[in-house]
Amino acid sequence: MRVFFGIVFLVLILILTVAAIFARHSSKSIGKTVCVLICTFLFPITGNLILVVSDNKILSEVGCYIYYIGMDILMYGLIRFTFEYCDMTWNSKLAKYFTYALLAIDIIQYGFNPFFRQAFETEKITVAGMPYYRLVPYMGQVYHRVVCYGVIFSLVVAYFMKIRRTPRIYAEKYVVIFISFIIGILWQTIMIFSRTPIDRSMIGFGIFAILVFYFSLFYKPRRLLDRMLSGIVSEMPDAMFFYDGSHRCIWANEPGKKLTGIEGNHFEMASKGLIEKFGEVKDRDADWNMNKALVSEEGVRYYAIEKRTVYDEKDRISGSFISIRDNTEEQRNLRAEIFNATHDALTGLYNREYLYERIKKQLEEHKKEKFIVAFLDVKGFKMVNDVFGTEFGDVAIKTIARWLRTNFTGKCIHGRLAGDTFGILIPANELDKKRMENELSNFIVKDKDKSYKLMIHVGIYEVNDIELDVSTMFDRARMPIATIKDDVRKHIAFYDDEMREMVIWDQKISQQALAAIDEKQIVPYLQPIVNREGRAVGAEALVRWNHPEYGLLSPERFVPVFERNGLIAEVDKYMWRSACEILSRWRRSGRDTFLSVNISPKDFYFMDVLGTLKKYVKDYGINPTRLRVEITESVFINDTEKRKKTIEELKEAGFIVEMDDFGSGYSSLNMLKEIPVDVLKIDMMFLRQSGDSEETSSRALKIVENIIHMTKDLNIESLTEGVESDAQYKALSEMGCRLFQGYYFTKPVTVEEFEQKYPKID
Ligand code: C2E
Ligand code: MG
Ligand code: MG
Repeated sequence: MRVFFGIVFLVLILILTVAAIFARHSSKSIGKTVCVLICTFLFPITGNLILVVSDNKILSEVGCYIYYIGMDILMYGLIRFTFEYCDMTWNSKLAKYFTYALLAIDIIQYGFNPFFRQAFETEKITVAGMPYYRLVPYMGQVYHRVVCYGVIFSLVVAYFMKIRRTPRIYAEKYVVIFISFIIGILWQTIMIFSRTPIDRSMIGFGIFAILVFYFSLFYKPRRLLDRMLSGIVSEMPDAMFFYDGSHRCIWANEPGKKLTGIEGNHFEMASKGLIEKFGEVKDRDADWNMNKALVSEEGVRYYAIEKRTVYDEKDRISGSFISIRDNTEEQRNLRAEIFNATHDALTGLYNREYLYERIKKQLEEHKKEKFIVAFLDVKGFKMVNDVFGTEFGDVAIKTIARWLRTNFTGKCIHGRLAGDTFGILIPANELDKKRMENELSNFIVKDKDKSYKLMIHVGIYEVNDIELDVSTMFDRARMPIATIKDDVRKHIAFYDDEMREMVIWDQKISQQALAAIDEKQIVPYLQPIVNREGRAVGAEALVRWNHPEYGLLSPERFVPVFERNGLIAEVDKYMWRSACEILSRWRRSGRDTFLSVNISPKDFYFMDVLGTLKKYVKDYGINPTRLRVEITESVFINDTEKRKKTIEELKEAGFIVEMDDFGSGYSSLNMLKEIPVDVLKIDMMFLRQSGDSEETSSRALKIVENIIHMTKDLNIESLTEGVESDAQYKALSEMGCRLFQGYYFTKPVTVEEFEQKYPKID
C-alpha cells in the first residue's frame, strides 16, 4: 500500500510538474497563474507523499508541515487563479490583504508548533502491519481548517455566482471547475475526518489541477462557436446558401429563403430560385463574384453575389456557400457620388472634365463619322448677372441647358464648360446652321416678370484629327467667335485653317518680340512730312520688323497682335527712345527736323505715357516740341476725362499733340472742340478707298477742304497724310493745308536713307 500510493503520488507530482512547465510557456495570458496554481498543488501532494512513505516521526512531521503550509500556499494559488479565470476583481484592497494575512498567520503559527505544539502532534499507528504517523489536531489546526474552509467556501460561492451570471452555453468551463472543486473538497473533508494517514483526496487534487490546466489553456467552447456562427449566419441580412459537395443546397438563412421563395426546409429549391432570378452560372466548381441589377416594381435593386468553396483540412471540397448582398443603397450612393463628380450642379449637364472624357470616347467609338465641336458663349453674361441678379443669371444658364438637352440628342454630347460657356459635340450631318441661327437670334430668358434676350455666340470647329486634345478642339471652336463678337446679326462662326495660322502666328511673334527689340530687328522707318515748298520739315517714325525668317514686316502684321497682349507698350517705348536718340543726334548736327511718334490707345493701360515721354526727352536732352505725339480718336472712347487731362499735361510739358487718322473712325467733329490737339492729321486714304473713281476722290477732297476750314477756325494746324499725287498736293495746298505726308513724296525709308535723301538745310 505504502509503495503503491508512493508511486501514485510520485507520478502525480511528475505530471503536474510537466503541466506547470507547459502552462508557464503558454501564450495565453492566464498561463502564468495556472503555472503558479499547479506548483502550489505540489506542496500538499509532496507533504502527503512523505507522510505515506515515512515510518519515522520527524520525517512524518516534516511531511505534515509541508502539507499544511502547502495548503495555505495552495489557497493563495486558488484565489489568484479563480480571480483571473472568472474575470473578478477584489472589491476592496482590505479584503484582499485580510485574506492573505489570515493565510500568512497560519503559516507563522506552524512555525511555532515545534516549540509550543499548539497546532498538532503526531501519533504512531499501524495500518496493515505498517507503522504510520498520523496527526493529532489542536487549536492551531482548527484555525488552519477554519481559514482554509473559509477560503474554499468563498471560492465555491464565487464560482457559483459566475455560473449563474454567465449564459449557459458559455458557463461550461466554470461548471467543470466548480464540480471538480466541490468533489475535491468533499473527498478531502472525508479524508480529514477519517483520520487515515494516506490522504487519497490528493488524487482528486491532482485531477482538479489537470482539469484547471486543460480548461484554462486548451478548452475551446466548440458548441459555443458553432452556435455563435450559425447564429451569426441566421441573423445576417445577406442571403446565405450552403451547399454540400454535390452542389445540393443543404441550408439557407431567412433572407436567403425569402429571396428564393423557399418554404419550410425545402432547401433543394434554392438553386432553381437563384437561377430564375440571377441566371445560370457556367462553372459551378469555381469561386466567383458578380454584381447584378434586377428591375422590379419598386425600381432597380443591386446585388453583390459571391460564391466560395469550403475545403477540409486535407484540401478536399467539403461544400460551398453563396452569399448575396443587397447593396442597392450603396450603389445608389455611389452612383450619386459619381453623378456629382461628373455633372454640373446647377444644370445637371456634364461638367468640363467629364464632357471631354465623353467626347473623346465618342470620337474613338465612331471613327468613321464626321463630327463638329461647338463652343457656346453668352455675350455680356456678367452684365445679365449684375443687372438682373444672379438668380436670373441661373435661370438663364438653366434655359440654355434645357435648349441643349432638347435640341442635341442622339449622338450629340453636351456639357457646361465654365460659367457662361457650354460645349457640344454634334455629328456633322446633323448640324442645321440655319435653324440654330434662327433660334439663337431670338433666345429669350424669362423668369417671373423679367425677361431678357440673350446674345449667344457659337464657334464651330470641324474635327479632322481625333487625336487632338478635346480642350484644343474647344479652343479652336472658340476662336472664330471673336470675328462675330460685335455683329448683332451673326451668332455662328466657323473655325478655318487660316484662323489657326493666325493664332500660331500671334503666338510665334509674341514670343520673339522682346528679343527682336534687343537685337534691333525692330527698327524705326521715317516718312517725311513736307511743307508747301516741298521741304521735309519733319518725319513720322513708323515701326518695321526686319524679321530674319519673314523679311521686312509692316506694322499691320504685328501691332494689332501686340495691342491685344500688351507687348505694344514695349515696342512703343523702344520707338520713342529711338526717336529721341535720332533727334538728339540731329540736334548735335544742327538739323532742325521734328519727329512724330505713334501712341497706341493700349499704351495707356500698360504704362505711364506722360512720365515715360518726359523721361526720354530729359534723358536725351531734347526740346519736347521736336517730338510730336500722334494719338487716335479711340484713345478717348474710355476714360475720356482722364485722357483729356493727359493730353493737356503732354501739351503743358511742351509736346505737340497730333490727332492721327482723322476721318478714319467715327470722327466726331464735335470732339475737336473738346480735345485740345495741336495738329489734325487728316487721312486721305480713309476718305478715298483704293480703286475709287475720280468722283469719289474729288468728294474726298471736298470733305478735306471743309475740315481744313474748320481747323483754321479752331486754330488747329492741319496735316494731310496719304497724299499720292501731284494733283492732290496742289489741291490741298490751295485749300490751305500746310503740311503733307504721303507716297507722292516718299514711302517710309530707313533712317540712313532719310538722312541721305533729305540732307540738313543750313
Ligand atoms: P499711321 O500712324 O496712320 O501711319 C501712316 C501709315 O500710312 C503708314 O503705314 C504709312 O506708311 C502709310 N502711308 C503714308 N503715306 C501713304 C500713302 O500715300 N499711301 C498709302 N497707301 N499709305 C501711306 P504703316 O507704316 O504701315 O503703319 C500703319 C499703322 O501702324 C500706322 O498708321 C500706325 O497706326 C501703326 N504704327 C506704325 N508704327 C507704329 C508704332 O511705332 N507704334 C504704334 N503704336 N503704332 C504704329
Ligand atoms: Mg501715325
Ligand atoms: Mg495716320
